[in-house]
Amino acid sequence: MNLWIKNPLAVFTDDSLDATGGVVVQEGKIAELVTGGKQPTCTVDRVFDAAGHVVLPGLINTHHHFYQTLTRACPAALNKKLFPWLTSLYPIWAGLTEEMIHVATRLAAAELLLSGCTTTSDHHYIFPQAAPEALDIQVDAIRQIGIRAILTRGSMSLGEDEGGLPPRNTIQDEDTILADCERVIDRYHNPNTGAMLQIALAPCSPFSVSEELMRATAVLARQKQVRLHTHLAETRDENDFCLNQFGRRPVDYLEQVGWLQSDVWLAHGIHFTDEEIARLGRAGVGICHCPSSNMILGSGICRCRELEQAGCPLGLGVDGSASNDGSNMIQEVRQALLLQRLHYGSASITHYDAFRWATTGSAQCLGRDDIGKIAPEMQADLALFKLDEPRFSGAGAPLAALLLCGAHRADYVMVAGEWKVEQGKTVDLDLAELMAQHAESAQRITSTL
Ligand code: ZN
Repeated sequence: MNLWIKNPLAVFTDDSLDATGGVVVQEGKIAELVTGGKQPTCTVDRVFDAAGHVVLPGLINTHHHFYQTLTRACPAALNKKLFPWLTSLYPIWAGLTEEMIHVATRLAAAELLLSGCTTTSDHHYIFPQAAPEALDIQVDAIRQIGIRAILTRGSMSLGEDEGGLPPRNTIQDEDTILADCERVIDRYHNPNTGAMLQIALAPCSPFSVSEELMRATAVLARQKQVRLHTHLAETRDENDFCLNQFGRRPVDYLEQVGWLQSDVWLAHGIHFTDEEIARLGRAGVGICHCPSSNMILGSGICRCRELEQAGCPLGLGVDGSASNDGSNMIQEVRQALLLQRLHYGSASITHYDAFRWATTGSAQCLGRDDIGKIAPEMQADLALFKLDEPRFSGAGAPLAALLLCGAHRADYVMVAGEWKVEQGKTVDLDLAELMAQHAESAQRITSTL
């Protein structure tokens, strides 16, 4: 069956491509872009009238911690910077169960879909005794929701008694971590074009894993040909920690443990020198900018322009819901536009830049060339927004209006050629029931202290 998404109000494509007449979708992929005023050249079975819709490539989220949806606006963690914020939350997160991880994953994935996100990464690094196979739980939950995902098997091994930040009941020993990393790659990673599920490896941060685990994880990832992810250079405290613990700044540390390569993407990437940015760019290391989280924790401003100019793929991430505290991708694109304009000036950062980061830039961070673009042969991952709320009334340029007027909810969302959101509602998912289960889990985990 061919579907023509016909005559959209506006569409975000590469400058060289004309899709003003719409997009034809066939067997999960984009089959044809239609020139304005023309008919598709291929046969069309169904037509979706998009005259009131702005069409974007499905947005791609490159950093999240789904389980943190259970600790949004958590009283114990309010108004703190990163390290005290983490130490307030670790004891709560130690109470995670399999059921909690399942419901948090489903809720976050549904929330992302509703905001126009079609591919998401997740960084799960807490494996308490009650949930040693957390990745398997997440895989089951993700498959139920139907979003495309790159789940990263995270890890923490450096407890507070060894100079790290996390308490002992939130960490695992390194043999257990590496064995589970190998198991989940073998079981779930799909390396093929169009993959709905991939696995990457993601030791949490310099202050929560050992140098040995960083090295061993990189060796395993390259042997299995999966990508590597971690938090880096998020705060000045982290730079000081690296200097004290390892005698090196974060980028030197990264290089030393074999991570300065193009199969790596980093969350945050804020506190770099010019020389470090040049080195990251030469290596092709991807950076995930998380503007809301950086503002909430007061961490600093990522230097997106210099990083991109140096050669780093630049993507966006909502980050975990304990430091955002939502999982709304279209709002995150607006936040990136605003924060980067504050840093570089209003003429230097356009809405096209922000959309590029959330689509092709994010796809590059995840090592994907089959998503993030509206072009023939790409996966049919699309987000359609309607400008029918008071906030858009009278708006001139439709694409700019999405960000400047503050779009927050997609009207239709397609993943691999299938509608997952229709008329602003998740398809085949009782959101009210999911929210009730989720709220109950949130109540339970935050009352364990
Ligand atoms: Zn994070």
